[in-house]
Parts: sequence; C-alpha cells; structure tokens
Amino acid sequence: MSSLHLPPYLSPLGMPAPLVTGWAHVTDRYSPATIEFVGTLIIQLVFFWGPSAVYLSLDTLFPKFSESHKIQPAPKQPTRSELFHCLWLVLKNQILTTALHAGMIYISTLVGKPAFRIDASIPQLHEVVRDFLISLALREALFYYSHRILHHPRLYPRIHKVHHRFTAPVALAAQYAHPIEQIVANILPISLPPQLLNSHILTFWLFMAYELLETTTVHSGYDFFLNAAKKHDLHHEKFLIYFGALGVLDWLHGTDESKLARRKAKGVVAGKGVSQEQVTAVLKESKSE
Ligand SMILES: [Zn+2]
Ligand SMILES: [Zn+2]
Repeated sequence: MSSLHLPPYLSPLGMPAPLVTGWAHVTDRYSPATIEFVGTLIIQLVFFWGPSAVYLSLDTLFPKFSESHKIQPAPKQPTRSELFHCLWLVLKNQILTTALHAGMIYISTLVGKPAFRIDASIPQLHEVVRDFLISLALREALFYYSHRILHHPRLYPRIHKVHHRFTAPVALAAQYAHPIEQIVANILPISLPPQLLNSHILTFWLFMAYELLETTTVHSGYDFFLNAAKKHDLHHEKFLIYFGALGVLDWLHGTDESKLARRKAKGVVAGKGVSQEQVTAVLKESKSE
C-alpha cells in the first residue's frame, strides 16, 4: 500500500489536477502556434489592459480615495485628451506587437524551432521557479541597459522622449512608447529570457503576467503595494534616476536616489551624456529644493 496519499485535486506531480487535464485538452485540440498566439494575447489583454482599466477607473469611481493615494499632485496629472492620445498610441503598439508575434510564430513553425516548449505535460514546480527567477534577473539586465541607452542624448529625443511625455505616469502609459522602444525595452526583455531557457509556455505566461502587473503598477501613479510605483514614478519626474525595476543595477551603477546629488554636481549639470531636456529638468528640480 502506498504511504503517499495526494488529495483528489492534485495530480501525481503535485500540480492542480484541473490544470493538468485542462492543459492536456488544450494541447490535444489546438496547434502549438495557435496556443502560443492566442494564449499570449489573452495574457496581454488580462494582465495589461485589465489592471490599466482598473487603475484608470479609480479616478472616476472613487475620486477621494484616488486623490489621497496619488504620488504626484493633481495639477501634474494628465488631462482627458492626453489620456485618449495615450490610449490610441498604446493600441497602435498592441497591433504592431501582435502582428510581429504572428510573424515570429509563422517563421518558427516554418523552420521547426518553436520559441517555447508546448506539449501535453505541465512543467514541474522547481522548473517554474528556476526559470522565473533567472528570467527576472535577465529581464532586469536587459531592461536597465536598454533603458539607459535610450537616455543617450542622440537617442532620447528621437525615441525615449515619447515615453517621458507623462511626467506623472498612469498605468496605460507603461506601453506609451516609440515602436522601437516598445520592441527593444518592453517586449524583448520579457519574452527573450524564457525563450533562451527554452521554458514551458505556461512558465512564460506566468512570468509575462507578473511583469505586466509590475509595469502597470509602477506606472499607475498610486502609492499601492508599499509604494511600489515610487521609484519609476521618480524616474518619470526626474529622468536621471531609477532606470531599472528591481533596484540592484541602480544601486550598482549609482543611479539610485542617494547618488543623484553627486550626479547633479558632476556630469549632469555640466550637460555631459544627457540631453538638454534632462538637464533642464534636473536644474528646475534643484531650484525647487
Ligand atoms: Zn516608464
Ligand atoms: Zn526613461
């Protein structure tokens, strides 16, 4: 007699039984290409558009609650027409990335090299945790360095200035970006690490969902979740600090808040390595202190 008795809702590998049977049904019924395309689109719709809609609706549904939790004051908040403009550009980026994704799936199907592992099995928990943590570290590196490159004076006015239009960001503005930035700094840092690891598509979706929730939250402009948005909000407000998401590389490269004064005294105020707009913003901020 076996000494291990799992509850009926867990599979022999310890994963929820409905997930195991449901996934087997999906892989049996649809092609890997359809699963990757539709599943990824659903994750984007649920975990980017969903939280964006919730954060944006707070202003209308609970104005007092919204105001008391906003990081930046009301006069700095975007107007209604700016929000509609934001919505339109984000929609265009959504269409672009969806079309690109369809093209990539078509090519990978032709050459017989799928980007992710898609089979009837469910990844084991230790594999999910391992791939998630490695992807988190790789995403931080890819996002931090691509973001810093985008702040180079030659690139900033042409590309990254678009994303910085909202000095007091809102959740939807997370994907308010030049198409090049959308691909290089938003899409690739999230999709590339799980591809390099040949992760199961379910692991990729879990990671993507987390990152989309993270990016909408840090752009939300609200002090929720222990003020998780504070650092990226400051980046939008002051340009030259907090280029990363986790904070480790900002600490390592001296781009966190504690080093701002030193940067002002050196290269920044002298105008070295930063655009005129960024220097003006820092000088303005120094005067107001
Ligand atoms: Zn941003
Ligand atoms: Zn930036």
